[in-house]
Amino acid sequence: INTNPQFPNNKTSMLGMVGGGQLGRMFVHEAQALGFKVMVLEPEAGSPAAHAADGHIQAAYDDASGLQQLAAACTSFTTEFENVPAASLAKLAETGFVAPSAACVSIAQDRIEEKAFFTRCAPQTDILPAPHAILRTADDLEKVSADLFPGILKTARMGYDGKGQVRVKSMEELRTAFDNLKGVVCVLEKMLPLAYEISVLVARGADGQAVVYPIAENVHRDGILFTTTVPSPHVSEQAALKTQNAALKLIADIDYVGVLCIEFFVLEDGSVVVNEMAPRPHNSGHYTIDACVTSQFAQQVRAMARLPLGDVRQHSPCVMLNILGDIWFDDVEQNTERQPAWDKVLALPSAHLHLYGKSEARRARKMGHITFIAPTLEQAQDEMRQACAILG
Ligand code: ADP
Ligand code: MG
Repeated sequence: INTNPQFPNNKTSMLGMVGGGQLGRMFVHEAQALGFKVMVLEPEAGSPAAHAADGHIQAAYDDASGLQQLAAACTSFTTEFENVPAASLAKLAETGFVAPSAACVSIAQDRIEEKAFFTRCAPQTDILPAPHAILRTADDLEKVSADLFPGILKTARMGYDGKGQVRVKSMEELRTAFDNLKGVVCVLEKMLPLAYEISVLVARGADGQAVVYPIAENVHRDGILFTTTVPSPHVSEQAALKTQNAALKLIADIDYVGVLCIEFFVLEDGSVVVNEMAPRPHNSGHYTIDACVTSQFAQQVRAMARLPLGDVRQHSPCVMLNILGDIWFDDVEQNTERQPAWDKVLALPSAHLHLYGKSEARRARKMGHITFIAPTLEQAQDEMRQACAILG
C-alpha cells in the first residue's frame, strides 16, 4: 500500500467516498476546493453527496462490482457513516489506503466493543463509560443489577439520532422493551444526571500526528442534535483538558487515521463520562467549516491523502443550529409543505446557511444547518434565537 502523499490535480487525484449523505457532500466540497475529485458509492439516486461529486457508482455498500469500480477509480478511500460494512472497507484496503481502517470503524459500529475500548483505555484517560449491562439473550436480563434503573436500552448496533433507544424505569419495562426488539443485542445503560454534553473532535494523520479541536457543547432535542456552541459556555478548563487528552490517547491507541468525534457527558457532580464515538466528521463539528482555519472535512481529506493536517484554530465564536425537516410542515395543516423564510434568516448578519440538497423534507430529517459566526458568542447566540423564532 502506497502511503506516500496523494497530490491533487494529477491522474491519481480521485478520492473514494463510501456513503452519499450530507457528511459526504460537505467532504466533496472541501476535497474539490483542494483540487481533488471524489467518486461516491451510494445505492440511492440523487443523494446529497452524489449531486456534488465528480462521479457516482450507484450500488449497495457491500456490492462486489460497485466496490471493484470504486477501487479501480481511486487509490484512497473513506466513509461518511459508521454503518458501512467493515468488510467493504477491508476489501478496499486490499488495493488502496483506507482511513479510518475497517478495524477502527468496526469498534465504533458496536456499542459493546466501543464501551470495552473506552474501559480498556480508562487507566490512561481516567474516564469511564456509563455503568451498563450487555443483553444478548433473555437470560442476561436476570443478571441486570437494580441500580441500572432508570436506564436507557440501546441497540448495540445501527443506532443514531436517538433511534433504537427506549427509556426503562423498571425490570418489567426492560423485559417488555427487550422482548419487543426480538433478539437484537442491546446495552442497558444507567440514566445519568447530565449537567451538559460535549464532544471532542480529533484528527490523526498517517504519520501519527494528531490535532484536537476546541470543546463543542451540544444540546439535543428528542435525541437529535439541536445546537452546538463553541466555545462551550459551561466546560471548565480542567474538564476541557481532560477530555481533549483522553481523545488524543484514544485515537492513538487504535492507530486511527482521519477525523474522529468522541461524545462525553459532564454530570451534575462535575465528573466526566465517555458516551460514544463516530469514526468520521460529525454533526457537532460542522461549525469548523465557518469558524476554524481547517474544517473537519478538509482535515479528513488531508488525512486520507497522507498530507499534513491543518491548523484547528477557531477564529470566531459560533453557534451551529441544525435544520430538521419539521419546519417545512405547517403544524396546523399537517401536510401542507411550505418554504422556510430563508430570506429573513439570511438577513441576520452572522448567519451562514448550509442546505444539503435533499429532495424531500421529512420530520426529524436533517436538511441543513446554520452557523452563526459573530464577534462575540452572545451575538451568535442572540441571532440563533432570532432564527429559531423566524423558522418556528
Ligand atoms: P445516538 O447514537 O443516537 O447519538 P447516544 O448514546 O448519543 O445515541 O444518545 C443520544 C442522547 O441521549 C445523548 O446525546 C444524551 O442526550 C441522551 N443519553 C444517552 N445516554 C444517556 C445516559 N446514559 N444518561 C442520560 N442521557 C443519555
Ligand atoms: Mg450520540
